[in-house]
Amino acid sequence: MQRIFINKSLCAGCKNCEAACMAEHTTHRSLWLVNLSDPSNKPNNRVALDNSGQPTPIFCQHCDDPACVTACMAGALTKNPETGVVEHNRDKCAGCWMCIMSCPYGMMHTSGVYEDTAAKCDFCAERGTPRCVSSCPTGAITLRTI
Ligand code: SF4
Ligand code: SF4
Repeated sequence: MQRIFINKSLCAGCKNCEAACMAEHTTHRSLWLVNLSDPSNKPNNRVALDNSGQPTPIFCQHCDDPACVTACMAGALTKNPETGVVEHNRDKCAGCWMCIMSCPYGMMHTSGVYEDTAAKCDFCAERGTPRCVSSCPTGAITLRTI
């Protein structure tokens, strides 16, 4: 299984990882065409400042015992036993936001201002390496096999 590891001391706060995530989850997948003024474009990751002002990347941990999966009564969230990725099935999602309230990392979010389903990191299922990882210029987020 592969996981994203975070070394926040290397993070420059450029937010390339957020922009890459937004672009990857549009139909065109182009960074140049992402409308940053459209509030429905949301990254599945986040870079926040810690108490000392250090930029800190925050990503879905695809937890071993995911609170979001336990909280989802619709069966829309499952943990893939082969990849370990916590997957979200939008077709089953009831938009109750129990997952948003239960994630200890704040990584579940609404899919957009005009939609009523949840959204989360899909580990860039169609790519070998998540686009956030390949877009980080400093090595603050890296992919490792565990
Ligand atoms: S918002 Fe969707 S994915 Fe989240 S707990 Fe409710 S039904 Fe499940
Ligand atoms: S791309 Fe890398 S350096 Fe830039 S904000 Fe994201 S984690 Fe930090």
